[in-house]
Amino acid sequence: MSKRNQILKELGGNSPPWDVLVIGGGATGLGAAVEAASRGYRTLLVERSDFAKETSSRSTKLVHGGVRYLQQMNVTLVLDALSERGHMLRNAPHLVHDLNFVIPAYSYFSLPYYGVGLKVYERLSGKLSFGHSQLLSRKTALEKLPGVKSDGLRGGILYHDGQFDDARYAIALLRTLEDLGGTALNYVAATDLIERDGKVIGIRARDKEDGVEFELRAKAVVNATGVHVEQIIDMDGQSHKSLLAISQGSHFVLPRSFLPGDTALMIPKTADGRVLFAIPWHGALIVGTTDVAVDSASPEPRALHEEKAFLCAHIGRHMDHAPQPEEILSVFSGLRPLVRKGHAKTSKLSRDHTILVSPAGLITVTGGKWTTYRRMGQDTIDRAAQVAGLPKSPSRTLDLKLHGWTPEPTTATSAWECVYGSDLPAVQALSGEAAGGEDASLGALLHPRLPFRRREVVWAARHEMARTVEDVLARRTRALFLDARAAIESAPTVANLLARELGRSDDWKLNDLANFLKTAKGYLYTE
Ligand SMILES: Cc1cc2nc3c(=O)[nH]c(=O)nc-3n(C[C@H](O)[C@H](O)[C@H](O)COP(=O)(O)OP(=O)(O)OC[C@H]3O[C@@H](n4cnc5c(N)ncnc54)[C@H](O)[C@@H]3O)c2cc1C
Repeated sequence: MSKRNQILKELGGNSPPWDVLVIGGGATGLGAAVEAASRGYRTLLVERSDFAKETSSRSTKLVHGGVRYLQQMNVTLVLDALSERGHMLRNAPHLVHDLNFVIPAYSYFSLPYYGVGLKVYERLSGKLSFGHSQLLSRKTALEKLPGVKSDGLRGGILYHDGQFDDARYAIALLRTLEDLGGTALNYVAATDLIERDGKVIGIRARDKEDGVEFELRAKAVVNATGVHVEQIIDMDGQSHKSLLAISQGSHFVLPRSFLPGDTALMIPKTADGRVLFAIPWHGALIVGTTDVAVDSASPEPRALHEEKAFLCAHIGRHMDHAPQPEEILSVFSGLRPLVRKGHAKTSKLSRDHTILVSPAGLITVTGGKWTTYRRMGQDTIDRAAQVAGLPKSPSRTLDLKLHGWTPEPTTATSAWECVYGSDLPAVQALSGEAAGGEDASLGALLHPRLPFRRREVVWAARHEMARTVEDVLARRTRALFLDARAAIESAPTVANLLARELGRSDDWKLNDLANFLKTAKGYLYTE
């Protein structure tokens, strides 16, 4: 029986109420659940789709204080985020690393201007600094950023920031939650709140795989549903239609040959005043992002025409070679849940988080950034403990090592494999590279253009609660984000392996493949 089915079976019994029940399995919900479980509270998380299915797998992959927020003078946010950045690196070195960024300078004035700003950024990180910023000559800037527009280049400013794999980090949080004794279920949606005497005492839930409905009781219910928080607040009979402003951001993924070094390009101000990054990631190059206000919250947002036009125009302006449409490997978009403030533009809205407690005791947490997920979890569970009268227990997450923590995975055969951290030998053992391997063919690559191996599908099904081809190709591996065509070509192999692991029928395979294809087509670039 799969891990998920085992948990569902146990839930079916007459279990006592959970101390904390979290709705939403993105960065915010998983962070809150880990916080609760690490304090000794009995914790359950339900996610209606897959973990990190929405915004939390679609970020720019930066673990950062945010140079842009410093420009906006939001020093408190930058200070907090820089501290969290340092702790994320310490607690999950298999998923977070230091990356060099270079701002190319096309005027002599911009060198001292950005140079001073980045020294302040570096100082604010104090003991948790990732390294010193420095001014670069034109020659060194070009060596660091081969492929950047050389015409008129005067020099550059190098600084350090963090990079991570967002969806893999979410999976590490899921595994940490389980290690701490907590429980999480994907494909279980909260459909309503249960109230007694004016207080929220649980949720109604639906298993999306078989449609079965059930009730879950809890002392504290946390709403961490990202851009959907208002839907849950509505279930509480409290309308909060104007709480959020939703902002969409899109990225292009290009072959690494556009910027072949190990350094990221940062354009602090495009012609229309935005920030643009081109960042090496798992052998490709991520370019983005945009910031466009949208009215509705789709689980699969698509890049708008204006975003594609912006990215095409601006990459071309900052690189020697403008990418052609057929060179774009993947396009992905995410939605930022931003707390509304009057009529301010979404790009001007704060990235701070907000916690609201309804009169019935529903705790809603929203806003924030991936980088501040832990702090958001800490603040949320402080409030939840108060609301539910849970026994006092201090936060322990600042120095909590996440599942897979290892100083250096010594058996990695590729940079990608480092994401498995201390689990890597067990992943490799599945294909016979270590004692006890069960099937040598599992060592084969899923696709010649991708670094992922068949054994990772088996691992994802057995240990990471992957249920669909999309779960494997989008979030356990990152195939769909890195090269949508290669992901589509890998899908039949993944479906076969997954069906074997999960005991699924041929009909299931056909149906799941069709679903994946429909989603994956949205990641292909179209004009
Ligand atoms: C384009 C873009 C780039 C970004 N880049 C960065 C970056 O580089 N660094 C950084 O620090 N931050 C970045 N961010 C911000 C960061 O990604 C978000 O702050 C964070 O991912 C939000 O996480 P969340 O858990 O609140 O929301 P989500 O990840 O959207 O999670 C909410 C979850 O709730 C689930 N859900 C909804 N309704 C229900 C229900 N009824 N029952 C059960 N589950 C439900 C959804 O399925 C979803 O999985 C970026 C954001 C965007 C959009």
